[in-house]
Order: sequence, then C-alpha cells, then structure tokens
Amino acid sequence: MADITLTLPDGNQRSYPAGITGMEVAKDISTSLGKKAISCSVNGEHRDLSRQIDADASFAIHTMQDDAQALELIRHDCAHIMARAVQEIWPDVKVTIGPVIENGWYYDFDRKEPFSSEDLAVIEKKMREIINKRDAVRTETWDRARAIKHYQDNDEPYKVELVGMIPEGQDLRMYWHGDWQDLCRGPHLVHTGQLPGDSFKLMSVAGAYWRGDSNNQMLQRIYGVAFKNKEDLKAHLYMLEQAALRDHRKLGREMDLFHIQEEAPGMVFWHPTGWMLYRVLQDYMRRRQIADGYLEINTPQIVDRKLWEASGHWEKYRENMFITEIDEEHANEKRVNALKPMNCPCHVQVYNQGLKSYRDLPLRLAEFGSCHRYESSGSMHGLMRVRGFTQDDAHIFCTEDQIASETKKFIELLSSVYSDLGFDTFDIKFSTRPDVRAGSDAVWDKAEAALESAIQKLGLPYEIDEGEGAFYGPKLDFKLTDAIGREWQLGTLQADFVLPERLEAEYVGEDGSKHCPVMLHRATLGSFERFLGVLIENYAGRFPLWLAPRQVVVASIVTDANDYVTETVDKLKAAGIRAEADLRNEKINYKVREHSLGKVPVILAVGMREVAEGTVSVRRLGDKRTSVQDLTDVIVALQDEATPPDLR
Ligand SMILES: [Zn+2]
Ligand SMILES: [Zn+2]
Repeated sequence: MADITLTLPDGNQRSYPAGITGMEVAKDISTSLGKKAISCSVNGEHRDLSRQIDADASFAIHTMQDDAQALELIRHDCAHIMARAVQEIWPDVKVTIGPVIENGWYYDFDRKEPFSSEDLAVIEKKMREIINKRDAVRTETWDRARAIKHYQDNDEPYKVELVGMIPEGQDLRMYWHGDWQDLCRGPHLVHTGQLPGDSFKLMSVAGAYWRGDSNNQMLQRIYGVAFKNKEDLKAHLYMLEQAALRDHRKLGREMDLFHIQEEAPGMVFWHPTGWMLYRVLQDYMRRRQIADGYLEINTPQIVDRKLWEASGHWEKYRENMFITEIDEEHANEKRVNALKPMNCPCHVQVYNQGLKSYRDLPLRLAEFGSCHRYESSGSMHGLMRVRGFTQDDAHIFCTEDQIASETKKFIELLSSVYSDLGFDTFDIKFSTRPDVRAGSDAVWDKAEAALESAIQKLGLPYEIDEGEGAFYGPKLDFKLTDAIGREWQLGTLQADFVLPERLEAEYVGEDGSKHCPVMLHRATLGSFERFLGVLIENYAGRFPLWLAPRQVVVASIVTDANDYVTETVDKLKAAGIRAEADLRNEKINYKVREHSLGKVPVILAVGMREVAEGTVSVRRLGDKRTSVQDLTDVIVALQDEATPPDLR
C-alpha cells in the first residue's frame, strides 16, 4: 500500500502505510502516548483514534491535556453512557438525541413515568459502573437502510425518524459503548474508562418536545455537567450555588426593585426603589456621555414600515419586530408601523436634517432609546432577556479617517465606565470581514486597520474572530467578567458603511463634493435592563453607596427619638443623600433585619442617648458591629461616599 506522510504539530513528518489508524500512530510515537491518547485531529478535523487515515495530512494526537477536545469528548461520552445507563435500568425507555452543551450535555428520553431526583442518583451510580468496566468504544459506518432496519428491529421509533431525515446515500456512523449502540457523528473516547468518574453530575430533568415542536410527543430531558477533574466540577457547582444566591430575580423581590407579569411578557414594571437604581445609572451615563461630546436626542417609538423597508430591517429583521396597524381617519389604506427594534434608522433621520459639512463631523448622537424585539417566551429570563429594553445607544457619524480616533475615544469611555461600576477588566473581541459583505475591500481594509490600531494604541489585549463581523462592517465586542467568574457581553462598537448610504446620509467634504459618512453604532452598557441584571448579581445587591437606590435608613429605637430621626433625615437629604425614616413602633433588631434584607447600605439607629449627645449609632450592611459617631461627621463622610465617581 502507498505510504502517506503525517505532519505533526512540531513540524516533524512521519510516513506510514495508508489506512493506518490514529491509535497506531500514537503507539508508534510512544507507548505512553498510546495509553494517554483520547482522540486526534486530521487536517484540523477532530476524529476518533480508531479511524483510518488514507492521505497525507496534518496530524495531532490529543490527550486530556487538550482542554477543548477533552471536554468535548468527556461531555459527549457522558451523554452516551447516560443513555446506556438509562436503558440498562429501564429497558422500555426510548432514546432520541443527546448533544453537548455549555458545561455538559443533555439527552431526551421517552418514558411514561417522570424521572425523579432519586432516579438521577441511580443513573449516576450505573454510569460509574459502566465507566469502571472500561468498555471499548467501537464505531462502524452503515448505510441508511441497514440503520433503519436496525432501529425498527430494536423498537426505537425516534431513531428511525432521525435516520429517515438523513439524505439518501450518506453513510451513517454507528457507535458502541460496550454493547450499547447509538447513531452519532462522533468522535468519542477510546474506552469508557477514560471518563473521569468523579467529575460529572446529573443536574435536572425538564420537559422537551420531540424536535422542539409542541405538536410532538413531550419527552424528558436530563441535563448533566462534566469536567476534566473533580476540582473543576466542584468550582462549577459552587459558582451555580453563588449564582442562585445572587439571582437578580430573587434579589429584585427582596429589594422590591421590579416585577414582570403575564400581561406584558418580557417587559419590566419598575418599582420606586428599582427605578431609582435605574435613574442613578442613567444619570451617570448621561453625564459621562455629555462630558465626552455626545448630543442627546430622542426619537419615536412607532415608525412607519417605509423607514424599516429603506433601512433593510423589514426584510431582515421583521420576525423580531412588533407590528401595529392603524386605520387613520379617511385613509384609503391602513398604515403599518413597527415598534422600533433599533434606534439606528431614526438617528440617521436626525442627521439628515440640514446639510452637513466635514466640519460637523464627528457628530455623536446619543439616545436612551427604548426598543422592542420579539423573543420567544422560552428564551426570556428576568432582566437578562426581555422584549422591551432601553439601550444606552449612540451613533457616531464620522469620516473614514476619524474611525480610529473615535474608536479609541469610545474604548476609553467604556473602560472608565466599567471601572466606575466595579469591573476593572474586560475582554475585547475583534470581528473581521465575513465572506458575504457590503462595501469595497479598500473600505474594509481601512476600517479593520482603524479598529485594530485603536485597541493596540491603548495597549489592550484582544482576540480576533475571523469572519465574524457584521455584513455592514467590522466590530468590537466587550466582555465583562463578574464577581463569580461569569462572562457577559455587553458593550459593542460596530463600523457601518451600509446604513448611511441606504438612508442617504451625506456631508460636504473639504473638496466641496458630497460624501457618505461612516456610522459607528456603539453602546457601553448595552441595555439598562440587562446591565442592571448583571450589576445586581455582580454586587449580590450590596451596591456601593453612590449606586445604592436606598442609601440610608434612620431608625428610631424608642418613639421619643422620632423627632430627632426626622431632623436627621432632613439633614441627610439636604446633603444630597437618599435617606428615609423608620419610625415604626417595632424593635430595632426587627428594623435592622428588614432593611438588611432590602440591602440598605447604612442604618443609623437613634435612641435617647444619641438624641442627648447629637450622635447616631452607625451600622453598615453585613457588619454586625455598630459605632456611635457624631451626626455631623457621619453626614460629611456619607456625602463623600455617596458622590458618584465622575463627580468626585
Ligand atoms: Zn454521540
Ligand atoms: Zn445602531
């Protein structure tokens, strides 16, 4: 047989007879590699070690040291082993599909009785038995007819349906974990014993319709998580526990911030305390933007479809838009409008009023723009995923030459805002030109270089996402990491060469002729709703004083102190502090407990001694100790702390 040449990652080349398997190559390189190997990559394709290699290729062996491949295999093999465990325990259960998802996998089963949490423990135990058996994983290629026959014989109707959907003539890969078989693209581990038995956990069961269609059979989906070792699993479970404790929906109730109800799905009813928080953040952003040279505008919520047709949203984005029809008096036809899903086209309308010259650029138009987008009811999640939201949106109209300096200016603003809000670092993702795009290569060259040089000038690290830019221009995405290690993509900057042209924006250049400006879409927070969700969870509701919607509660210990409490509140308010009195005839411990649950940062308790001495007893949230301090000193200190960072 002809020889083939495999090029290893270090550049070394080895030749082998064609048809050699990855495992044979691994063993040939070294016996220990043969034992540690879990899979391989052939010309970048992740594959089973048992598959034959027929032609020259770049080749790499993977071990558990390779995070991406190891985690994919661990989670994928877990899915198969869980399905095998389920069918070994309950042979009547029908199997369907089981993909890898973030941090783990799920598998959908058809079983009459619901899986209980006790069942999950039984399945986990069976999975560990299977892992301990170290059963080999085998694979074969079958044709469709053979696979259909196999699944009919084994009474697996869902598998029959799945195979039926695969185009005729396409070979199918069948996998066996021991004697248990599943249809799969692979790849998989070498044997079940390669799975770390102490690093996975079955998490929950949920209903899921077969193929996501509510006309179909309701199945039971078991979710699991899996990692490379038990420390990683433990860290993940701890993170989930922390996330549950600081869930913004739970804190939203405890702190009386907002609610969402059936009649307006995905839209927020802000309560006084929550709206104060919202306003504090919005006022802060407004000051920052004005200081940075933005002009604030406001544009309509409901706009005729003609504008959305001109902008391209009607064609590309319509299924996410809320459409309204109005039968205006004496009108021959109904007017069709849409609630704006984005502010961009409206901002171009403002730009287009009056002739612009190059001297007007860059023009930075900002709007706290309320937008509505349809999201399916299953995808909505508290403040994090809503249908109605307000962006801290702005569009910078500029020349191509100004892209770099405007990008740098924006990143500086964003970095300072994030730091003020408690996030000291962020990651940048730079997305470059996709295959399908508008605009000439020369313009793309210029815009990409401008964005990249702006990040480089600031000395910030960034990742390049090749080909992931929007069709209308390259973009930067900014990702925050919160207090418990979760990442959130919030801020963005996108260069756009298309929309200004579509909506006929222009300016008179230095040369006296008309040009089309570049439009930079940018948002720092993204939307107030989602950012507040992140902020609440990041701080677990314990905001720094300047952000806290309720800053100080002054509580009387005895009713005779009530007048002094009222005077104290007045003095605090006069100093610009959000203060309130608690004069209820309740025990001070009760009041402290209640305001602590509401996450009020400072409680000032007042009894007769404080009245006599002109002091207050200061208690900070989370601190069991109190200290008696002079009222005037307390006010000065709190006033300082309550001042937003940009005003200090
Ligand atoms: Zn599989
Ligand atoms: Zn925009």
